[in-house]
Amino acid sequence: MRSAIQQMRLGILGGGQLGKMLLVPAHQWSLSVSVLDPSPDCPAAKMASHFVEGDFDDYRDVLSFGKELDLLTIEIEAVHVEALEDLQSRGVIVRPAPSIIALVQDKYRQRQLLYERGFPVPRFGLLEGHASSLHHLIQRKNLSLPCIAKYPRGGYDGRGVFVLSQPDQIQDLPLLLEEMIDIHMEISVLVGRNASGQISVYDPVEMVFNDDSHMLDYLIAPACISGGLRHELIECATEIAHSIGLEGLMAVEFFVDKRGEIYVNELAPRPHNSGHHTIEGAVCSQFEQHWRMVLDLPPGSTALRSPYVATLNIVGPADFEGTPQYRGWKELLAQPDIHVHIYGKQQSRPNRKMGHITVLGSSRQEVEKKITYIRSQFHIEKAHIK
Ligand code: ADP
Repeated sequence: MRSAIQQMRLGILGGGQLGKMLLVPAHQWSLSVSVLDPSPDCPAAKMASHFVEGDFDDYRDVLSFGKELDLLTIEIEAVHVEALEDLQSRGVIVRPAPSIIALVQDKYRQRQLLYERGFPVPRFGLLEGHASSLHHLIQRKNLSLPCIAKYPRGGYDGRGVFVLSQPDQIQDLPLLLEEMIDIHMEISVLVGRNASGQISVYDPVEMVFNDDSHMLDYLIAPACISGGLRHELIECATEIAHSIGLEGLMAVEFFVDKRGEIYVNELAPRPHNSGHHTIEGAVCSQFEQHWRMVLDLPPGSTALRSPYVATLNIVGPADFEGTPQYRGWKELLAQPDIHVHIYGKQQSRPNRKMGHITVLGSSRQEVEKKITYIRSQFHIEKAHIK
């Protein structure tokens, strides 16, 4: 690594909102960061030191982007792993490692590795070859119908996940089948680890999903859980980070069932939307922490700046597709400790992530009340452009 970090040529694959928010602390430290994204209108394009239009899942685009860099990181997992491996063999530092990115691109491989290393996961099995082997697999893996079915590759935000009740629902294979957990709570733990093995962990976050879209609706930190459970979740996330040799930041998503048992659902080795509250709500934001971890700098404090923090996800309304106009956000700015983030996407689409709003408060009730107020004030409408 070049000794002066400001001299390093850094790069991010992906220029969405996570890329944009990664560029904020990068600017603070005067880091030079290039961004690769297929869309010149993407949220991060204007803020990057250098923007390159290209496909992060294309071998040639990733190689030609990365070979000019000293260190490459990601804000999205759907990237071309072989190109990253080749860049690594040419001396480019890739963090998180391509092997970790490959692991999380395949939900079955991810489950299998976590299971083999003794981490708690739902019972699972891979249905491949022929749908007629369903019965046999279910028996062998101690599963039952209905169960949860997932396409191992390419799904996100709940797309590619469904409840399998009847064998005739099966169309494409392979499918990862899992026992259906009786979920009491979905929790995310953000953990960072640098190349020196130093760890930083944020307090577990409670994620509340929208019943229709299955997307994250809002989150509250700290989660309403016992001290024992909090410790168990933090320890598990930390052990996973060490076990896979993480260099960077990672969200570990957990299920907690009605009996209080924990299960690892999935890993996201990058900043995550369950960590947006850390921008105003924690001493060191997840975005600054990601840079600290990939650059092998000391971990920043993960302490919350207020007893409770909540973040509401703002998604495109169901009833239109087109240029967005934001209504009611000026009223929100008049309130103390409400922080509006608008990602700057040119087009709104149903359920597209368009922004988020973070609130701080001294009690859980207070932040929940503020979230309700924001819902009543803030709207996205279709802009009428003359
Ligand atoms: P994605 O990667 O698309 O977000 P997930 O694997 O996280 O998909 O699943 C999406 C949602 O489906 C989860 O947040 C959870 O609510 C539900 N889910 C997934 N797996 C299970 C399971 N084994 N048991 C019960 N619910 C599940």
